[in-house]
Amino acid sequence: MKEGIFYVLGFDIGGTKIAICLGTSDGKIIASTRVGNKDKDPNVVLPNLVKKGNELLSDNNLTTKDIKAIGIAAPAPHDVKKGIILNPANMPLWRNVKIKEYLENNFNIPVFFENDANAGALAEWFFGAGDNVQNMIYLTMSTGIGGGIICNGELVQGTSFDAGEIGHTVIDIDGPECQCGLKGCYEAFCGGRALALRLQNELKNEPENAIVKAAGSVDKIDMIALEKAVRDKDEYALKVWDNMILRNAQAIGGLVNIFNPDVIVLGTLPWATGDLFMKPFMEYLPRFCWEKSIEKVKITVSVLGRSIGEYAGVCVALNGLLASKNKKGEL
Ligand SMILES: [Zn+2]
Repeated sequence: MKEGIFYVLGFDIGGTKIAICLGTSDGKIIASTRVGNKDKDPNVVLPNLVKKGNELLSDNNLTTKDIKAIGIAAPAPHDVKKGIILNPANMPLWRNVKIKEYLENNFNIPVFFENDANAGALAEWFFGAGDNVQNMIYLTMSTGIGGGIICNGELVQGTSFDAGEIGHTVIDIDGPECQCGLKGCYEAFCGGRALALRLQNELKNEPENAIVKAAGSVDKIDMIALEKAVRDKDEYALKVWDNMILRNAQAIGGLVNIFNPDVIVLGTLPWATGDLFMKPFMEYLPRFCWEKSIEKVKITVSVLGRSIGEYAGVCVALNGLLASKNKKGEL
């Protein structure tokens, strides 16, 4: 390996599986493995993570001495500072799990912990669409809307590590209720889960509707069914899509004016649908922020796409080391 380049290990924690990835500081994923986590007890999963992590190292002729740090990308809610996974909805047996401490005790190297949306932002910043910029905003738009903000060359964490929760910005005081308890959040308008539930409710007596037909049945309506009906130019679906894009432009336009970023990276839905999203989005954007800031910002879909999970934990490790040095060039 080239001089100055080093290895890190990343753990990307999900409700169905946990990805363990061996990566390098110059952005190569050397090898990866998975540990199943669907309805699993952390008392079983944690030792398995250590076992599989060590196997990954030995399969590549490495030991923990060759690894500079470990990064964990974890779902909310969590205690980022202490590295504790509290009680994520899709991991029913994980309650107050001190995963950072556990991996530290078992690997004896520095372990860094970060929220998974922030980890996605770090992945795009280090090795994706935000490489070489100082100001970047990342949004992942799937079932919910998660975000991460890089400002002046640092991840913005906030006083209690809750910064970057862009999906829970209220954009309409009369808007729909959000699962977070607020009313009119950006996520309540544009999150995949919220939008699907709204359509299922609105179309429950409309079996002939194009979105219902694309889904197969009303209870199966999702963003894929909506996209299909939009591509088939169904009038109702086009209206829903157009309104969703307008709300995205409103929320993201606010970010453009607040942060004046170099790059905004849009993952998941815009990444999957391309121009169908991006074209009308760019047309609506000038209604919500200054032209001079739009001229400066590059708005793009995710570069890492589906492989972002492989980079997430690895980049949490790299950013942990970077933050302790506080300068990207000195890693
Ligand atoms: Zn909310």
